[in-house]
This record gives sequence, structure tokens and C-alpha cells, in this order.
Amino acid sequence: SYKIGFIGLGQMGGRMCKRLIEGNDVIAFDVNKNRLKQVVDLGAKEAKSPKELAAYSDFILASLPDSNVVESVVFGQDGIIEGCQSGAVFIDLSSSRPASTQKIALELKKKNVSMLDAPVSRGVAAAEKGTLSMMVGGDAAVLEKCKPILQILATDIYHVGDIGAGHILKMLNNLVSSTCFIITAEALVLGAKAGLDPKLVNDVLNASSGRSYATEKRFPDYVFKNNLNSGFSIKLMHKDISMCLEFAQQMLVPLPVGSSVVQTYTTAMSQGRGDDDNLCMVEIMEKIVGVKVRT
Ligand code: NAD
Repeated sequence: SYKIGFIGLGQMGGRMCKRLIEGNDVIAFDVNKNRLKQVVDLGAKEAKSPKELAAYSDFILASLPDSNVVESVVFGQDGIIEGCQSGAVFIDLSSSRPASTQKIALELKKKNVSMLDAPVSRGVAAAEKGTLSMMVGGDAAVLEKCKPILQILATDIYHVGDIGAGHILKMLNNLVSSTCFIITAEALVLGAKAGLDPKLVNDVLNASSGRSYATEKRFPDYVFKNNLNSGFSIKLMHKDISMCLEFAQQMLVPLPVGSSVVQTYTTAMSQGRGDDDNLCMVEIMEKIVGVKVRT
């Protein structure tokens, strides 16, 4: 049994926290009181602040929207940095900005607290079942120490490099997954306009070289069932690929295809669709052309 603090109980964090409550001593915090109550009802202790949570925990886990929020929880008023105990580990499960992660790790080190970046993939269903994939940056020895906890959340844990490397890889993953998703939606919309059956088009893509996670999972399991609720919002995907683009600019690596995928999401954001599910991108594209790929 480990003393674990969990901050950020949203779509992903709420599900991960619930898994950890079983068999561990968990203290939780979220600014959203309803979400906090849900895990307290399952046996977690309630923290009044990240500081109080950190003072109680050997392992501090966070699943927050973005690096601005992660920094505010670490450095802000009653933040982790004020409460953390020497020897503790901070694990950022969010999809955060690598440079911010490296800065946080340096500051925590001054308090003798280590850090891992451990962003995840595969969505809310995998968070629920503990079958996430996880890409970890940081010290190998620290990862070994944290593995018993991380294995409650993820079945595939990759050590991908030093601190920040996990967050870099997560941006790369979402660059690829958003691109495959958007380009598949474009193809299906075009096919529908040309009179082809969208499901048949998808089946053939799946059996051919156009196959991807989008054709294998997102369209058959969600879109074609008219279920546009995967638990991942447009604004979070927009954040991930915008961050990736910004990073690529700094590295002087052109991303002509990635840039245009970001613009697709920016259009949705400007229409006020940020809080809608990522899968609603299909609905937005259907509307533009005046066809339906959903049955
Ligand atoms: P979410 O918006 O559902 O949850 C975020 C939670 O953080 C909310 O409960 C919110 O109240 C809480 N929060 C916000 N500010 C806070 C603060 N200052 N202090 C404490 N709590 C605060 O987001 P999510 O979908 O669970 O995603 C979390 C992270 O995981 C994001 O970085 C996202 O990009 C990433 N991610 C999401 C998915 C997915 O399928 N949803 C998959 C992989 C990675």
C-alpha cells in the first residue's frame, strides 16, 4: 500500500484515481467539488489544497488539462512545492509542454523531490480498465520505484528518455493520431459526396493501405454508431497539436501537414466547439459539405 496524492479528477484522472484507491492510501484534490466528492465517496481522503495533498504523499500524481494548470498547482498559492516531502516523486500524467516539465523537475529537485513525465494514450476506456499505454521520461531508477503504481494504470509502459521525453513523444503521438483521424474524415466525406457508402469505404480502407487507429477503432466503434462521446475534447487535442507545432518551430523542423491539421481544429475552436468531443470534428466536416458519414 502506497501513500498516493492524486490531483485532477477529470475524464482520465477520475478513472485512474479510482483504480489506485483500491489497495492504496489515496488523498485527492480537484477544484471541481463534484469530482472530488466522487472519489471521496469511494474512500479517498479529501485535500483542501495541493500543498496539503503533497504533505501527505510519497507519490504525487497529476492529470490536468495543460502545463499552465500543472505549473499553477506546483508553484501557485498552497502549491505542491510548499508541501512536498523530501524523497517524494511527482508524476505528471497530463499531456504537458516538455520545457515546462523540465523547469518543474529542476525546482522540485531543490526540495529533493524527483519527477517523471508519464503521459498516457488509448482514452477513457483504457483508463477505466488500467490498460493505458504510457510514455515515461526521467530517471530509470525513479521509474523502477514507481512501476508498481504505474502498472495499476497502464499495461504498456515505455521509458523513452530523460525528463520531458515522455511529453515530447505524447505530442508526436497526437500529431499522428489527429492527422489520421482528420484525413480519414475528409476521405469519408468526399466518398459520401460521391455517393459511396461510408461504412463500406471504411471497411475497404481497413483492409488496405489506408488503415489506421481511426479506421480500426474511432469510426467503427464510435462515429458509425453515432456515438460522438469518447471523453476527449476538441480543445485538448487543439492544445496538444498546437504545442507540437510550437515545439517543431523552435527545433526548426517544418510540419506542413501537421500545421494544416491544427488549422482544422482552430476552425472548430473559433466556432465555440472547444468543449465538444474530439469526434465532433466529423460532424463539423459533414456540415461544411452537406453530407453524412454517420448512419
Ligand atoms: P478533463 O478536463 O476532463 O480533466 C481535467 C481535470 O482537472 C478536471 O477535473 C478539472 O476540474 C481539474 N482541474 C483544472 N484545474 C485544476 C486545478 N487548478 N487544480 C486542481 N484540479 C484542476 O481532462 P482529461 O480529458 O481528463 O485530460 C487530462 C489530461 O490528460 C490532459 O492533459 C489531456 O490532454 C490528457 N489526455 C486525455 C485523454 C482523454 O481521452 N480524455 C487521453 C490521453 C491524454
